[in-house]
Amino acid sequence: MFINHELINELLKNAQNATENDVDNVLNKACNRENLTFEDIAVLLEIKNENQLDKLFKIAGEIKNEIYGNRVVLFAPLYISNYCVNDCIYCGYQRCNKFERRRLTQDEIREEVKILEKMGHKRLALEAGEDPKNCPIEYILESLDTIYSTYNENGNIRRVNVNIAATTVNNYKKLKEKGIGTYILFQETYHKPTFIKMHGKSIKNDYYYHLTAFDRAMEAGVDDVGAGVLFGLSDPKFEVLGLMMHNAHLEEKFGVGFHTISFPRLKKAEGMDLNSFPHLVSDDLFKKIVAITRLAVPYTGIIMSTRESSSMRNKLLKYGVSQVSAGSITGVGGYKENEKDENINQFTLEDHRTPIEVLKELISDEYIPSYCTACYRMGRTGDRFMSLAKSGEIHNVCTPNALTTLKEFLLDYGDKQLQDMGDKLINNEIEKIQREDIKNIIYNNIKSLKEGERDLYL
Ligand code: SF4
Ligand code: SF4
Repeated sequence: MFINHELINELLKNAQNATENDVDNVLNKACNRENLTFEDIAVLLEIKNENQLDKLFKIAGEIKNEIYGNRVVLFAPLYISNYCVNDCIYCGYQRCNKFERRRLTQDEIREEVKILEKMGHKRLALEAGEDPKNCPIEYILESLDTIYSTYNENGNIRRVNVNIAATTVNNYKKLKEKGIGTYILFQETYHKPTFIKMHGKSIKNDYYYHLTAFDRAMEAGVDDVGAGVLFGLSDPKFEVLGLMMHNAHLEEKFGVGFHTISFPRLKKAEGMDLNSFPHLVSDDLFKKIVAITRLAVPYTGIIMSTRESSSMRNKLLKYGVSQVSAGSITGVGGYKENEKDENINQFTLEDHRTPIEVLKELISDEYIPSYCTACYRMGRTGDRFMSLAKSGEIHNVCTPNALTTLKEFLLDYGDKQLQDMGDKLINNEIEKIQREDIKNIIYNNIKSLKEGERDLYL
């Protein structure tokens, strides 16, 4: 099996003897943009010296900027069904929690999508619990059609990432045919004994089947896969090495690793007590883990959800986070019902800002909020995407697309204050661009947007 528990334990044990000199050597490798080994990553996980920590954070921020520039991609989750046959003890949707389960009708999905479009969203993560009877693949496929075909004034959803339970090659083929963006699946924990303990009598409780879901997805032609663990279930250092081994396995077998990694931390949910989880991750360790991941897999998108507070999210943006959700609701039908404060969430959220508030803060901190979905639509997926990212050329499409989609947002959804802030940022960012051809593309795009054209990208 490609998650070698013995090796991970040995690497972690040996790293405890790492000296500050050893840490410096690894940081220098990262500075020189050399690939890090599992051993190097284990050493970084042991950093305690404040100066070395600062250096780690600085390198992580530099790498993110070098590859993707200062753009931050925005998305929102859309929960369509909370039926679930599993008993994951950390989740509010676990089978033994008794509440009235529901799945949205196609009309209800349309309503939710229209609300999300009015918020300016173009990129969604579709979420559903596992229930072959009440939430079969056919329902997911129909829902994807509904989402992609729902328009609201200037709004349309241009990329739907899908987070559903591990399934068969055949079902992944069907998802691919519907034009999904990334297929997202969290391993929850790479530590097999913990995985088994967390999932009780559930169909999800098949470590190997869950672990090999991306192999089946890639066999089915899904190029972009998004991983994650739920930090807090098991030793976080073990989880980081588990993620890296999983990524290395996919790179070796399919030539391309994770498109994204999400960093959820365990939060309070219905039917569980946080005190019964001994591996909760402190803020300091969490920041370190995110920064180390940026050094270890420089080209992989790092996603931070609204589980984290706005101040934590702002800090992590400096250490390598490249995508954030905004205005999220994690209950089925929650966007509509939020107005009535009735929704049942999968877990508790910390960042309750609206997308406009998030955008204002990003712009104040000199990030470019981006609603870009271009790569997937231009066929830049899998190894085609990775080769652009590795050559540094992705920068040349990320920045113009970020500025164009920000301008589109300002025109369609911005208030006066945001429009002023956004226009100022756009002008400053265009000034910084060296290539005249790229500047001209952005000027032309802005002109076309003002004339009423939409959905421009390269
Ligand atoms: Fe169901 Fe997913 Fe929650 Fe487990 S984590 S109970 S599979 S919704
Ligand atoms: Fe993402 Fe590609 Fe757009 Fe850059 S150009 S923001 S990598 S979709």
